[in-house]
Amino acid sequence: MRPIFLLLMSLPLGMFAQQRHCVHKEFVPELATQNESLIYRSTKVIPVVIHIVSNQHVHVSNLQVYAQIAALNRDFNREGEEWRRLPSALQELATDANITFELAKHDPDGKPTIGINQKVTSRNNIGLYDDIFYQDKGGIDAWDTQRYLNIWVAEMPEGLLGYASSPEDVGTPTDGVVINIDYFGTSRAEASYQLGRTLVHEVGHYLGLSHPWGSIQQECEEDDGLEDTHALAAPHYECPPFEDNTCDTMPFYWNFMDYTPDCCMALFTHQQVLLMHHVLEQYRPLLRVSSIRYEEDTTEYLMLTPNPAISAVLISWAKEVNLIEFYTISGRRIDFFRATSNERYKNLCLDHYPKGVLIVVFHTENGEKNTKRLIHL
Ligand SMILES: [Zn+2]
Repeated sequence: MRPIFLLLMSLPLGMFAQQRHCVHKEFVPELATQNESLIYRSTKVIPVVIHIVSNQHVHVSNLQVYAQIAALNRDFNREGEEWRRLPSALQELATDANITFELAKHDPDGKPTIGINQKVTSRNNIGLYDDIFYQDKGGIDAWDTQRYLNIWVAEMPEGLLGYASSPEDVGTPTDGVVINIDYFGTSRAEASYQLGRTLVHEVGHYLGLSHPWGSIQQECEEDDGLEDTHALAAPHYECPPFEDNTCDTMPFYWNFMDYTPDCCMALFTHQQVLLMHHVLEQYRPLLRVSSIRYEEDTTEYLMLTPNPAISAVLISWAKEVNLIEFYTISGRRIDFFRATSNERYKNLCLDHYPKGVLIVVFHTENGEKNTKRLIHL
């Protein structure tokens, strides 16, 4: 990311005011193959450490961090509301990235942590400089960048929302995402950027995605290398309706890798998701919380209603089940109950269950094991 970053510094920063802008080194995607569709299906949980380097005037609370992590999980697990309102042609492109982010529970030395580092600096706009990555220069040193997604939150000039490293930077001390402190979380930013999607976009870059217009704006000569993201001649800065910038006849907007305001971002495409999983497998294989693997059950004998569920769920099954277990996405068993041979359903109160994605494992008497995913809102 460095060369482009230096180029930016030679430009008048005011030109970016009031526009979403991020700096990104083009990553030429290695397209995933059909054989990787199984990888695509496996849930991945990424440990995150947040390094907040604030000045005396700005403070970021832990609650704001939690809101930002929840926003990431909402959008990488297609839990936002917006995608349901997409035109059908775009809705067909949208898919669940099946990637979950979790604040690190252990630091690189194995000690318990909440995954949040805070530091105050007197430096103006430290997020603009490499110093942000080094403790002895006023920033905070990265945690092992092969094993953690490092996110630095710091002051930057207005209009520059963030920048991210490329998968090719894996393992370097500057590998991760830097985000403007004014656009972090879901309540700090101006109205257009209050849904936490600046970080969703930057993490997309970190996982290998490029902008749909490639690296050249105002041209249709290149794109992001993917087939189901239609090339754009230029970013969209406003919500629809607008004059569409697509290079072909197919409209393409609402994508997390465009520059639209947060409220009209809603989708990753199938190939974007495949590429992110490919990057996690091939470039960032150590970036993983131990997680249980599961295949979404397609048989009809298991039902979770409603799903997503808020405070209670009806679990029903049509053949003999003798044990039902509940796991968090990171593989921690949080509850279980045994069923008698006559039982076919159970009403379960979720008040004491953690929010987010839960994995429900059904064991039948003949040794079959099936899993379903339950979203607890
Ligand atoms: Zn970008």
